[in-house]
Amino acid sequence: MHFYAMLIFKIHLYYMKKLILHFVCIFLIQTIYAQHKTENLVIVTLDGMRWQEVFKGVDPAIIINKKFTSDSESVVKKFWSDDINERRKKLFPFLWTTIETSGILLGNRTKGCEVNNANKYWFSYPGYNEIFTGYPDTAVNSNDKIKNKNVNALEFINQQKGFTGKVAAFSTWDVFPYILNKWRSNIYVNAGVDTLNFNTPEFNVLNDLQFLAPQPIDVRLDVNTYLAGKAYLKTYKPKVLYIAFDETDDFAHAGMYDQYLKSAYAEDAMIADLWKTLQSMPEYKNKTTLIITCDHGRGDAIKDQWTSHGEKIADAGQIWIAAIGPDTKHIGEEANCQTLYQAQLATTFAALLGFNFKPGHPVMQPIEQITSK
Ligand SMILES: [Zn+2]
Repeated sequence: MHFYAMLIFKIHLYYMKKLILHFVCIFLIQTIYAQHKTENLVIVTLDGMRWQEVFKGVDPAIIINKKFTSDSESVVKKFWSDDINERRKKLFPFLWTTIETSGILLGNRTKGCEVNNANKYWFSYPGYNEIFTGYPDTAVNSNDKIKNKNVNALEFINQQKGFTGKVAAFSTWDVFPYILNKWRSNIYVNAGVDTLNFNTPEFNVLNDLQFLAPQPIDVRLDVNTYLAGKAYLKTYKPKVLYIAFDETDDFAHAGMYDQYLKSAYAEDAMIADLWKTLQSMPEYKNKTTLIITCDHGRGDAIKDQWTSHGEKIADAGQIWIAAIGPDTKHIGEEANCQTLYQAQLATTFAALLGFNFKPGHPVMQPIEQITSK
């Protein structure tokens, strides 16, 4: 071939390669964010629920300690087994049946799968900020009722076509309107003992219940938060629903291990009921992803510190994540995973629905095991 013809050919080849690479990149990005079966997302958090109980069941050292468990016998009867797999299933039957067989459980450090807070504070507001904004912002360092400056993934999803007005959160803790900045984000947030302003017989009964029932942790019971969220789900059919439980953390701070376990067990039952409800509705069946996680861990190395958390408490930055849905791998309990961070959840939420969450602050990659089968 003539020298110039050869040169032109090589230049063409160079640009063709670039063009092909360009299309391959576009194809890959589209594959990541578009090939998803998830049409709805449901998120549930258990405040300060330790991974130790999730993966190992009740802790024998805390059960036998009268300071923390006044009636050890009844706790043993209800939740104990010598077999660790049976023991965790007794405490979290839904996690260790349905999710174990059809979803994924991340965070068993004894099997080499670590999930961590990326923030260094290891308490609630920084944790929830990290979950929803994907940004372990060092300026978010108190539980005070401060309107969150950081844009969150739920608010981003609420701005997408077909999702506006279809994102709702029900929480027991009354700081969530601030964490999710409902004034800016326009997400429906019902928190603490907010009146349920929906004039139906079901919501009227739920209002009576939440105001008349005893409030051992000074806000409505988790079961009332759940039932309000469930009634909203059935009535308004949101595309994204978030339910935030709180009792586990409060009972742990109070040093009441038996109550902490009972709340954890009840919350597992509510999640089972929620999944059953979702799978019974054509709008949700087989096209909804459910993600369950916590805001922070608690102490363990020094056993008495199980009641506490925060940056001075060893192990309190250790968390866990469970997920089930049409795009999530059926791994069950994952062993030897790459280290995962709470901050990856925000982009995971968006990616499941086919969106790329790129706010003005840094974010991390979605959790691949949850977003792509
Ligand atoms: Zn706490």
